[in-house]
Amino acid sequence: MTAQILDVTDDHADYMCDESRRVGHAEKITFPKSIADVREALQISIENGWPVTVQGGRTGITGGCVPDGGLILNLSRMNAMGGIDSDRMTIQPGALLADIRETIKGSGLFFPSDLTETTASIGGMVANNASGARSFKYGPVRNWIHALEVVLTNGETVRVERGVHKANDLDFKLGRLKGRLPDISHLRRCDSVKSAAGYFVKPDMDLVDLFIGAEGTLGVVTEVTINLLAEPVQLNGLTAFFASEAEAIEFVRFLRDAGWGTRPATGVGPGAVGQLPSAGVPIAIEFFDAQSLELLRRMKEENEAFADLPALNPEFHTAIYFEFDCDVPDVVIDKAGEAIDCWFAEGEHEIETLKNFRHAIPESVNMLIGERKKTIPELTKLGTDMSVPDGQLENAMRMYHEGLAEAGLEYVIFGHIGNNHVHVNIMPRSMEEYERGKALYLEWAKQVVEWGGSVSAEHGIGKIKRDFLKLMYGDDGIEEMKRLKECFDPMNLLNRGNLFIL
Ligand SMILES: Cc1cc2nc3c(=O)[nH]c(=O)nc-3n(C[C@H](O)[C@H](O)[C@H](O)COP(=O)(O)OP(=O)(O)OC[C@H]3O[C@@H](n4cnc5c(N)ncnc54)[C@H](O)[C@@H]3O)c2cc1C
Repeated sequence: MTAQILDVTDDHADYMCDESRRVGHAEKITFPKSIADVREALQISIENGWPVTVQGGRTGITGGCVPDGGLILNLSRMNAMGGIDSDRMTIQPGALLADIRETIKGSGLFFPSDLTETTASIGGMVANNASGARSFKYGPVRNWIHALEVVLTNGETVRVERGVHKANDLDFKLGRLKGRLPDISHLRRCDSVKSAAGYFVKPDMDLVDLFIGAEGTLGVVTEVTINLLAEPVQLNGLTAFFASEAEAIEFVRFLRDAGWGTRPATGVGPGAVGQLPSAGVPIAIEFFDAQSLELLRRMKEENEAFADLPALNPEFHTAIYFEFDCDVPDVVIDKAGEAIDCWFAEGEHEIETLKNFRHAIPESVNMLIGERKKTIPELTKLGTDMSVPDGQLENAMRMYHEGLAEAGLEYVIFGHIGNNHVHVNIMPRSMEEYERGKALYLEWAKQVVEWGGSVSAEHGIGKIKRDFLKLMYGDDGIEEMKRLKECFDPMNLLNRGNLFIL
């Protein structure tokens, strides 16, 4: 036996949670170093009837890698990276985004996925179909995955390559496994928005896409081949400050639609895969509401750790950060001239400073919640991850602000407004406020689904948003998804409890 399976002890406490702060439990843990170890650990689990929870970097925020008994399959030691082969690279699932970037550096190529959290593993990114700020132009990680190697619970290892392994209408064959994909496309009303909620299924699809965003419920990803792009020769980042949110959103609409030709992929999947994004469109369009800027002003004043943040003029109400990987078009410079002020950063180094400003918002939120937890340990922040169709952006923003003001809750709104995808972070001051925020979140999710939006644009469903997935697909859709899961994993051992309860 090569896979060393350990009894869980107090030393393994860190492996019981992810960044959602949900805490689970497990009896066994293993750190495989090879695909043979993974296969063996799965075999032993099947023989013993142990549920298996797969872990990558444990940066997920929906509890997807939090165990609910059984064995933890932690892939952090399977982190080797092969060399660059033309414009592709094959890597093990535990390799971290930061290390992938470091390895590629200097090659003239880059990997377009740019999560804020760079200690995420490529396996976890694939499982969640993760995105980042630059997904406005480059789409989610799905668009940059060429092939996967996956260990199935029947003991087989399959390789699925884009353009090679495809479904025939809805029928599929993977090694010995044959089946029919659920016909859920008619239940999925969110095809025009950014989404990472539930299985991606459509007739004649590339089978690699079935595993991307499946949250580890269909197989363990043991190898990933990524596509790389030629590195942009220049990078320009700008932050424009406006006197009102309405003006800022009008600027976003201008940035999105100002005659760039083809609109960038919304990142809903295979339609966008492999297409090079059109030249000249912004890479990223990010939003910071008035409360976010106010929080930064307060943290700069009150907390040493934020002393280096740039001073924010009291007139700045809302900010839009945007990036171009080419000269900023003159029309954009002219339009940005209508803002109160516009900060300009050139090249990766200067842009990093602007990014620190952006990262300071979630950091401040976490710090505030951390303080409150000292007196109310069960308190957490409530963070949304929903996207809406283009036409509903203003309505969604109104819904958030009005609901939060009425409920008297403390909050900030920031994020990927280019994709109509902002994160509302509610910072409750009591458990009563927490419950009020939760009720509000559920109301919003119902409305977003009604508009044809997605309840999760990038973080996935995991174990904490299962009710929201049901809102999106209804009982019928969930039943169809369960049938697919049963076909791949009849004993329901793998990542049990992610997406739905079987
Ligand atoms: C501060 C912060 C910022 C973040 N910013 C972003 C962002 O910009 N964009 C974004 O999309 N997300 C973001 N996230 C969320 C998180 O980083 C992503 O969800 C990421 O994809 C998780 O990767 P991981 O390796 O940490 O996965 P884990 O948390 O370990 O696992 C996530 C899921 O993937 C499954 N999984 C992991 N590896 C495998 C595998 N090899 N095979 C099968 N299943 C597997 C797990 O079982 C689990 O269901 C952020 C999180 C934090 C804390």
